Amino acid sequence: MNTFLSSSQEALREQYEKYAAEEIQPSAKDLEQGKASLKEFLQKLGQTGFLGMTIAKEYGGASGSFLDQALFVEAACEYEAGLGLALSAHFQVVELIKRYGDDRQKSRYLPLLARGEAVGAFCLNEENAGSDYSLIEAVATTKQEAPKLTGKKLWVVNGKIATLLVVVAKDEETGKLSLWLVDSGDSKTIKVTDGAKKLGLRSATSDQIEFVETKLAEGSRLEGDAVQQIEFALDTAKTILAMASIGMTAGAMKLAVEHAKTRKQFGKNIGAFQAIQWKLADMSTDLSAARMLALRAAWAFDDAKEDFRKYAAMAKLLSSKTARFQTGEAIQVLGASGLVEDSPAERFYRDAKMMEICQGTSELQKVVIAEELKV
Ligand SMILES: Cc1cc2nc3c(=O)[nH]c(=O)nc-3n(C[C@H](O)[C@H](O)[C@H](O)COP(=O)(O)OP(=O)(O)OC[C@H]3O[C@@H](n4cnc5c(N)ncnc54)[C@H](O)[C@@H]3O)c2cc1C
Repeated sequence: MNTFLSSSQEALREQYEKYAAEEIQPSAKDLEQGKASLKEFLQKLGQTGFLGMTIAKEYGGASGSFLDQALFVEAACEYEAGLGLALSAHFQVVELIKRYGDDRQKSRYLPLLARGEAVGAFCLNEENAGSDYSLIEAVATTKQEAPKLTGKKLWVVNGKIATLLVVVAKDEETGKLSLWLVDSGDSKTIKVTDGAKKLGLRSATSDQIEFVETKLAEGSRLEGDAVQQIEFALDTAKTILAMASIGMTAGAMKLAVEHAKTRKQFGKNIGAFQAIQWKLADMSTDLSAARMLALRAAWAFDDAKEDFRKYAAMAKLLSSKTARFQTGEAIQVLGASGLVEDSPAERFYRDAKMMEICQGTSELQKVVIAEELKV
């Protein structure tokens, strides 16, 4: 299953798994139920070095690969998949600044993001602009001496806890989209409210943010082609979320295997029944296939390959479908014990459905894959 990872990456993965079992597992339920603070948890991850894994050492990061980062997300999501969503938003912002930021933006934000002193959030979605972000109505008025931002963003992961927002807005004058780095501290013009309580991934908040003539600081625009920047941010998140889906499916499978070995019915462990064995065999096969595709997307990112976009879409599509189906199969093996709130399987099942929608729906992944096939 892991033949594509180098021995040092295998060692890293073992280290992450140990960390996740010891440090994330005990807090998983409290994080999902809002009894533990996600912000404090992310700060702890930042202090341990997990928020700046791909940031260059000169900016306080570990100069590691995107694949290393993806492996950490996989390990974390074996216990708490909402963390994967929160990390995907933070890493989107990190990677955008790394790729498109100028020297001043990099030296100002990357050290804070690496240490977890700043958490990132990506603000794209609006009421009338879901899959089709060309319909964005948030507007940046750049004509005046002091540019300003007005508009309302929905479903902003980390919205409430983020200190650095990347906001997509339409330029009032040119009508073109652009991305802006906005410090969230100005509470007079930036109003953050709770998003609706959602089916799963509950530890990560998805908030509404309204900007009312928020001042855009000088030099806060990310220079470059906005559509490329948005697509890059989405592809980055899709790859992270693919690994999160793999992590949660692996977590659910572990529970199912353990249950199959210990639950006795009709005088045998239920794992002795072929019906259960086949479920677990299918689960293991689907998980391995989805994992290889997700790792393939992470490699494409690291190699800056043009096929990153295609693999990120394929990885998100397959891993979320696998997670949705196989977390359900895990509950089938667990029987009623998998349906209760105390069981992480119940949480994984709710989390998995979310993955088919957030950061681009499965239908939109197929649109991207077909575009790459030039059909
Ligand atoms: C948990 C979660 C976290 C999120 N985090 C963020 C975030 O941090 N920042 C942010 O900006 N946004 C975020 N979003 C928003 C998310 O990106 C959008 O929900 C997603 O892009 C879909 O938009 P929509 O929900 O408006 O659905 P719509 O675009 O209205 O789609 C509705 C349905 O129509 C289908 N559809 C639409 N267009 C097509 C087409 N061309 N071909 C085929 N089918 C189509 C869709 O696939 C879907 O089934 C998040 C959403 C969720 C659920």
